[in-house]
Amino acid sequence: MRDQADFAKNVIAFLSHLDEDEAGPDPHQAAMRLGIPLKDLIVLSRNENPYGPSPAVGAALQDGLFHRYPDSRPFLEALAGYTGFSPEWLVAGAGMDEIISTICRIFLGPGDRALIPVPTYNYYALAAGLCGARPEYQTRAESFALHPHLPGLKMVFLCSPNNPTGETLSEDSVRSVLEETDAIVFLDEAYIEFAGKSLVGLVREYQNLVVGRTLSKAFGLAGMRLGYAIAPPWIAEQYRRVAPMFSISSPSLAAGTAALADLEWKKECVRRIVSERERMREKLPCALPSQGNFLFLKTRHKSKALAEQLLCRGIIVRDCSSFHGCGERCLRVTVGRREENDSFLEALEILDGKKD
Ligand code: PMP
Repeated sequence: MRDQADFAKNVIAFLSHLDEDEAGPDPHQAAMRLGIPLKDLIVLSRNENPYGPSPAVGAALQDGLFHRYPDSRPFLEALAGYTGFSPEWLVAGAGMDEIISTICRIFLGPGDRALIPVPTYNYYALAAGLCGARPEYQTRAESFALHPHLPGLKMVFLCSPNNPTGETLSEDSVRSVLEETDAIVFLDEAYIEFAGKSLVGLVREYQNLVVGRTLSKAFGLAGMRLGYAIAPPWIAEQYRRVAPMFSISSPSLAAGTAALADLEWKKECVRRIVSERERMREKLPCALPSQGNFLFLKTRHKSKALAEQLLCRGIIVRDCSSFHGCGERCLRVTVGRREENDSFLEALEILDGKKD
């Protein structure tokens, strides 16, 4: 009988250089390890909305034609109402991660380069790598001055508010990137509902801009896997040719449509989260100002060990040492419910406040 090695040679060579994506400790495994029920764990590591989706979502899940392939039109129409862009400018996918990987498949191939200002969301590098492209890292602190003649530059990834650091990009800096490059610029606005002004209006002015969005954050639907993008119609058309036709399930589409019909719920979640974010920041001198639903903290002690100590107390936060360019003393903490945030603040004071 032939063994694995006879077939492993068929794996595309450049894939062997890629590391698996990581999202911090898995809450289910952590609960098992600590011997506590999952509901007693305080999960502040995944930038989820602690209040969940609109109650209308539960009702929408009751009546589906689940034996039929999904119809995405009602969801796209709801997105058109929410964004102000007609459906020819919109594409939807199973989470923004699917949008990112599909956009990469359109524009990146072996030998191409993708500019990624770091630290930022790790999946851009992985998605580019999956197409055989090479990430070109640039530190965010160096502004967004590009090297427009970088050979093979096909994509630029911008994230605003940025994960994990929380700051937004100015309209001027995004415009200058768009104008200086022939590459496609992907602007990730996953957290835009927690921030001030969106830059999505620029899509009408620039043929090389795609803005990515998600219902995982402000709309509280991370488990449903719903992302979308606003893109010039020529890019949206390419997208539809490449993407799987039925990647979003009927229940997810129904959930998304219902959530978009209840903007009051989303508004109230955002109001509470932003108010908690500012309350926490006042108590955390080590936190940077943030426009997202999370805070980025510079820690006195190594963040990996600190995150582990917090985990032992039943609190999961995101150690940022796995973010390219973050160093070893940064944590990202999601803004949770008031009592969860208080538990975190108390534990952090005890653990990181100690003198060396
Ligand atoms: N972009 C950013 C900046 C994110 O933080 C995340 C999720 N953490 C995503 C995209 C992916 O979102 P989704 O859940 O829609 O795949």
